[in-house]
Amino acid sequence: MIPSSGELQADCPCQSGLSFAKCCQPFLDSSSAYTASTAEKLMRSRYCAYTINDSEYLLKTWHPDFRPDSLNLNTEESVSKQQWVGLKIKKTIQGNKNNSIGQVHFIARYKINGKAHKLEENSYFEKINGQWLYLKGDLKT
Ligand SMILES: [Zn+2]
Repeated sequence: MIPSSGELQADCPCQSGLSFAKCCQPFLDSSSAYTASTAEKLMRSRYCAYTINDSEYLLKTWHPDFRPDSLNLNTEESVSKQQWVGLKIKKTIQGNKNNSIGQVHFIARYKINGKAHKLEENSYFEKINGQWLYLKGDLKT
């Protein structure tokens, strides 16, 4: 999915304070060779992928052992019901350039039919062949 130029100049959905073009968009662009240098950057870009229903990117950055066969983000139902509105990174453990595993604890906020919800998760990542991949997450309830 290629966002319009207006979206590129807008603030990144991951709320890093950078524009989408300078933050997560390069990772989501399937024609670019950018890969996230840290687990947190991968996590942020995956959050953005959720906001724009980019299931291709989500599957690409999912560890093959944990990846679902398909993701149905684009169904009319999910688009109208779930709207992502914010991301806050609470804590990261390892996940840096020199690590091969990492954890990111985050809170993502979304709305369903105008009602606010939040999802708190501790996500696990592994770097394989220089590429950070999402393994799985523990939901906090
Ligand atoms: Zn971002």
